[in-house]
Amino acid sequence: MNALMNTYARFPLTLVRGQGSRVWDDAENCYLDFISGIAVDTLGHAHPKMTQALSAQAATMLHCSNLFHIPKQQQLAATLCADSGLGAAFFCNSGAEANEAAIKLARKYFYDQGSSRRTVISATRSFHGRLLSTLTATGQDKVKVGFDPLPPGFIHVPLNDLDALKSVINQQSAAILLEPLQGEGGVNIADAAYLQGVRKLCDEHGLLLMFDEVQTGIGRCGTMFAFEQAGVKPDILTLAKGLGGGVPIGAMLATDAVAASFGPGTHGSTFGGNPLSCTAALTVLEVIEEESLLANVKARGEQLMQGLKAIQARFPVIKEVRGQGLLIGAELSVEAAPLIAQAREAGLLVLSAGPNVLRLLPPLNVSEAEVDEALVTLATVMERTQ
Ligand code: PLP
Repeated sequence: MNALMNTYARFPLTLVRGQGSRVWDDAENCYLDFISGIAVDTLGHAHPKMTQALSAQAATMLHCSNLFHIPKQQQLAATLCADSGLGAAFFCNSGAEANEAAIKLARKYFYDQGSSRRTVISATRSFHGRLLSTLTATGQDKVKVGFDPLPPGFIHVPLNDLDALKSVINQQSAAILLEPLQGEGGVNIADAAYLQGVRKLCDEHGLLLMFDEVQTGIGRCGTMFAFEQAGVKPDILTLAKGLGGGVPIGAMLATDAVAASFGPGTHGSTFGGNPLSCTAALTVLEVIEEESLLANVKARGEQLMQGLKAIQARFPVIKEVRGQGLLIGAELSVEAAPLIAQAREAGLLVLSAGPNVLRLLPPLNVSEAEVDEALVTLATVMERTQ
């Protein structure tokens, strides 16, 4: 009997352990993991430094209420602020919670100014989470069905269309919420020129720019944050997934001026930023630096991109290969699911982003040989399914 609610279409596989970029199922079959817990296992599995840091923290203190000062939380906030150029951080436990915090902060910021601006504009095909606020912000109807009434104050515009954005900005507009690269929605890149134009529009109209980097942040795209590649700084930034390397933690960062609108009692989270999750996040950031993982993401990302393009040249069923760093999608002219199943049977775990896009998200420390191995497996699977 299955006592779980049926919320996931699970693969027919039970993973029981991992090491680096590899995982094993309950029958001791080994797989190359190019899913990484959906962009979560930043350092791969069982990284010795993570194991050591978490064990030491568990032996010291797992949790401490936010009623007290938590030194590692302060250290993590300071590091993330230094890296992002933002002023202050709030910690929670997931991407959806980070975006909920961002939406609340944006509204409170305008409330504090006596302004009636409340509307959040986001992009079609975006994904921002499954809380009522964040599924409403999400630009995909499928996540909303059956959950009305949805909260008011959200509208959507197509990505990479500045005119569409201009046409909806009015006196009610508070913020624009965008993923610099849409992960779940199909690996769709927001053009640098578009993001620069959005920043300009926000400045002209007094709107806040909020980047959802829950999937793209913490090195996934080859820079610590994807927004760096467009040279555009947000007013609010959200992170989760890869931040804890597998331990749940989310973060919402904002400029000092915006962050000032959250005072005691305006927002909170029992578990948010506890000593264990902050230890995990600090370890992720340390290892990214110590092991020069941003350089590895760029090199392996390029290797993967070029390798996929070479496969595309042989198999026209691949319509386009796109992405940044180690968040790469191959858009197919057919459904991705059968190919994903074949890859799994051949020992490679990959996932989809929408029905037709194959998505690859290896750990940031994946090796050159592992990327080669994944490419060989994919080519073999493509050949077989021809
Ligand atoms: N935002 C983005 C860009 C995401 O990709 C996701 C999850 O896929 C979320 C938000 C929601 O994160 P979580 O599942 O941790 O709530």
